[in-house]
Amino acid sequence: MNSNNLQEETREFQAEVKQMLDIVINSLYTNREIFLRELISNASDALEKLRYLKITNKEILDRDLPLEISINTDDIAHTLTIQDTGIGMTREELVENLGTIAHSGSKAFIKQLTENDRKDVELIGQFGVGFYSAFMVADKVTVYTRSCLPEAQGYIWSSEGTGSYTIKEALDLKRGTKIVLHLKNDAQEFAKPETIKRIIKQYSGFVQFPILVNGEKANTVQPLWTKNKNEVSDEEYNEFYKYIANVYDEPLFRLHFSADAPLSINALLFVPKENLERFGFGQLDPGVNLYCRKVLIQQQAEGILPKWLRFVKGVVDSEELPLNISRETMQDNMLVSKLRRVLTSRFLKFLNEQSRTETEKYNDFWKKFGIFIKEGLATDFEHKEELLKLLRFESSKTEPGKLISLKEYLDRKTTGQKAIYFLNGPNREVIEASPYLEIFRKKDLEVLYTFDAVDDYVLNQLGEYEGNKFVSADQENLELPDDGGHTPAADGLAEADVNALADWLKQQLGEKVTDVKASKRLTDSPAIVLNPGYMTNSMQRMMQLINKELDYPVPKVLEINTTHPIIKRLDILRKNNDPFAKVAAEQIYDNALIAAGLNFDPKGMVNRLNQILERALQ
Ligand code: ADP
Ligand code: MG
Repeated sequence: MNSNNLQEETREFQAEVKQMLDIVINSLYTNREIFLRELISNASDALEKLRYLKITNKEILDRDLPLEISINTDDIAHTLTIQDTGIGMTREELVENLGTIAHSGSKAFIKQLTENDRKDVELIGQFGVGFYSAFMVADKVTVYTRSCLPEAQGYIWSSEGTGSYTIKEALDLKRGTKIVLHLKNDAQEFAKPETIKRIIKQYSGFVQFPILVNGEKANTVQPLWTKNKNEVSDEEYNEFYKYIANVYDEPLFRLHFSADAPLSINALLFVPKENLERFGFGQLDPGVNLYCRKVLIQQQAEGILPKWLRFVKGVVDSEELPLNISRETMQDNMLVSKLRRVLTSRFLKFLNEQSRTETEKYNDFWKKFGIFIKEGLATDFEHKEELLKLLRFESSKTEPGKLISLKEYLDRKTTGQKAIYFLNGPNREVIEASPYLEIFRKKDLEVLYTFDAVDDYVLNQLGEYEGNKFVSADQENLELPDDGGHTPAADGLAEADVNALADWLKQQLGEKVTDVKASKRLTDSPAIVLNPGYMTNSMQRMMQLINKELDYPVPKVLEINTTHPIIKRLDILRKNNDPFAKVAAEQIYDNALIAAGLNFDPKGMVNRLNQILERALQ
């Protein structure tokens, strides 16, 4: 052996690490005991990796060492030691892992800590810098580590957290990592076994390896998900959820189930209380960890649930999966697809059951997570039928805030009704004030209200539900159930006048309209714009949001209410060749666009409105 290697080398920490350490060392915390959770979680990660290597039959050092975490307190030497028999670290890994910060996310976290309230330091583990929390309680940290690679050497890493660390080779180390904390004067409580046991119970109760405190076992390792449902208390479930989801509150829903066929599965799934994507956190990572016979194969495994179920947290354990499955091969593995299908169906069935037994809770779920169900409908045909059952809507026949399913809608539809009607708008008030509902009120037809911009796309793509077409109430050709035929109102314009007026309007409005017709659907409004083809007003709004060049909506059909005084007087002006008729016609069209909630460039309108006012004030 080269004796040079035994010499100690001093190295500087990367600048970000120095910053991190400065915060950790110099701040006062109420909750610094979380350092132990971080070190135990690192030990557990290292053991999980080792267990995986062992099963996949790689050559490893000290193969027969038991997989466990030993914690020893010494209140004479004032030290706390945390040792694991996990994968350990090579020299390069030591330098990389305990001397630098790779993640850009953690750099942002440090910046935030430096600038704002330092109490957020509790979140340290979520940002991939948990190790440094050791310096909250220790003024010197020594790490003894030896990698599990067959030829690996051992090393000692040591630092007082002030700018630099030392590394030297060590002889006679066993596989794994031992971290010795030289406790600060004001941190002597962490040299007491009672304190350590209490903290383990609070934060690390679900670690899947024995944790020994001064030789005594301090946790129960039986994986919760393999237990019988009636052997697990609500409290244990909730604690487990907090542990795996790294949160402090309780879940909204929990599903614990086992299956033997077609695959043997133990799964424990949770729905959180909040959807973080709603608050602009960006797209969530998958939240389910994949195990095979209690061995962690992948944390936050992709492909175990469809992407649109990324808000679900939990654990899935299946005996059939090959242990050596990698992230790359997950996607096209047949067993994984099968597992995903079974899990997804079971989870959707569970949600459907909850909607019946826990309606209020389900509606709360719908408000926060409904967008994921819609994403599923738009992207996943495999589960269409199950997802359709989960859709909820307010409607013209519900109280504000109350929700119905498509089934409830169909159960009370009017005789002869063949379609499911819907109308999009930013909120209930706007929808109810629009002219589109007039005919539906008159015929006592229920209309679903869609408040999300994506709704119209989803419903359009679905096309129909149980043989009933989805039809937007702003479409031109509504085939409404017959109410004995339309009889032209006695007080309306004569048919010849209607035709002449429609032709004239078409000329005046030019490219803005595709057609002008007498309306059979209006009672109170003078005119309405309708969409030919599949487009809805909501899609139109989206188009204009994306393409700012479109300063006018695509041409619409204008329907006029031939019994309305405005339309009747317009016809008189037209017959008299009054130039004001054109002004009025244009304003009637723009008013109909406004009533539809559509955007257009109002440049010309102000002039026109002034002209109209001038005349009105004469
Ligand atoms: P994170 O655990 O989120 O990656 P940490 O700051 O807690 O961030 O740890 C940094 C890295 O140091 C870990 O990713 C791991 O590679 C390494 N490490 C820390 N503790 C151990 C340990 N006990 N055994 C092996 N590697 C470890
Ligand atoms: Mg960590």
